[in-house]
Amino acid sequence: MAVKQMQYIIIGASAAGMAAAEAIRRLDSEGSVTVLSDEQDMPYFRPMLPFIVSGKKKFPEMMLIGQGPYRGANIDVRINSRVEAVNTADQKVSIKSGEELPYDKLLIATGSVPNIPSDIAGVEAEGVFVLRTIADACAMAHRAETARHAVMLGGGLLNLKAAFALLERGMDVTLIVKSPEVLSKLMEPDDTVLIRNALNKAGLKLVTGSSVTRILSDSSGVIGVLLDSGREIPCQMVCIGKGIRANVEFLDKSGILVNQGVVVDKFTRSNIQNVFAAGDVAVTLDPIAGERIVTGLWTNAAEMGSCAGRNMAGQPGIYSGTFGILNAAQVADEPFVSMGIVHTKGTAYEIHITATPETYRKLVFTPDGTRLVGALFIGDISKAGLYRYIIREMMPIKDIKSEIVNHRLHYGHFLR
Ligand SMILES: Cc1cc2nc3c(=O)[nH]c(=O)nc-3n(C[C@H](O)[C@H](O)[C@H](O)COP(=O)(O)OP(=O)(O)OC[C@H]3O[C@@H](n4cnc5c(N)ncnc54)[C@H](O)[C@@H]3O)c2cc1C
Repeated sequence: MAVKQMQYIIIGASAAGMAAAEAIRRLDSEGSVTVLSDEQDMPYFRPMLPFIVSGKKKFPEMMLIGQGPYRGANIDVRINSRVEAVNTADQKVSIKSGEELPYDKLLIATGSVPNIPSDIAGVEAEGVFVLRTIADACAMAHRAETARHAVMLGGGLLNLKAAFALLERGMDVTLIVKSPEVLSKLMEPDDTVLIRNALNKAGLKLVTGSSVTRILSDSSGVIGVLLDSGREIPCQMVCIGKGIRANVEFLDKSGILVNQGVVVDKFTRSNIQNVFAAGDVAVTLDPIAGERIVTGLWTNAAEMGSCAGRNMAGQPGIYSGTFGILNAAQVADEPFVSMGIVHTKGTAYEIHITATPETYRKLVFTPDGTRLVGALFIGDISKAGLYRYIIREMMPIKDIKSEIVNHRLHYGHFLR
């Protein structure tokens, strides 16, 4: 009797979706693997979008083709194929052309969309952008050809990257943040001195403790923003970077459990049989903080997608959870890594800070000092990988605590 070939459907052709497709193909050479994307372009490396805005790279340089084997692996990537609904009872997805595709195993890998706060008036004006897709990046680059001044709303890493891309084009850029400092999710205000200096040196104008209430426009599009203080800042473009939210609207009637994102178990399975989720759209557990989080990082999304793919193809594996780490992020030529628990104000965590004019290092231990739970490195990120290992593996540190604190760790300490 012929064995039925599996039909795998993956929604979303990015870090998680493509990693899953490749993992499935490695384990199942017969089944059909179809990846559906609502974008107009073939898969690409999303973290490189700021280079399109700055004009430093062209789209072909950021495509995933060549990096992954999917082209030669009989993986069918269908662009311009937005999934409008998932029917979990009949195991079918409906795409916008009206076509229905049956599945045996389904992966939701639809990532996230930028959050647009409802309390800002005028966001529909021409010249208001978010940066999430290649289409967004190209539109920003186009507007930047004639605009002189850009205002960025939000001080998170992605918006800072976008701000620097525009500075690199020679534009005047003002960044407005409600918090007292930038990067408030990755460090505390007292930790940001070096970053703040680097931003000033790079020419970024920073307005903290303020928010925009209205985007002003006329027939040419954006002409300025109005702050809650009453101050007006003239500009010809605005970029909104106020966080992201999981892309789940199309799952409304599917019965798939959503709570900030698709809720999955340690095998990346949703509450519905044969439906999995991975990447920015999935809510997982941060094993260090013990909190449910959405990853927001390419490497985590790819790792989780790969795990989901193996589970879908019948090789069960546990996704160990998302650990909040940024791999060597860089702001204005200032490298930094923020991992685990770094917000300690008002807590009993044991903290060690070492600061020089060029570097800053903050280590966070449990209140009893027996375990490293977080680290922040700015300026010098060498050895960050060793610290990451200690945090992630929850290593006992009694014998090497002084090496950890004094930055004398080396690989030999891990061989014992
Ligand atoms: C400007 C920018 C810079 C970044 N820099 C970094 C960085 O330096 N380091 C880092 O680790 N991470 C970075 N990230 C984050 C990283 O890109 C994401 O964490 C990663 O892309 C998440 O991958 P994903 O596969 O879960 O989802 P996504 O990459 O968001 O992909 C989801 C895909 O699904 C598609 N989709 C959504 N709904 C549907 C539907 N109904 N039907 C069909 N298709 C659908 C979307 O259009 C999208 O193509 C950056 C992101 C941005 C935007």
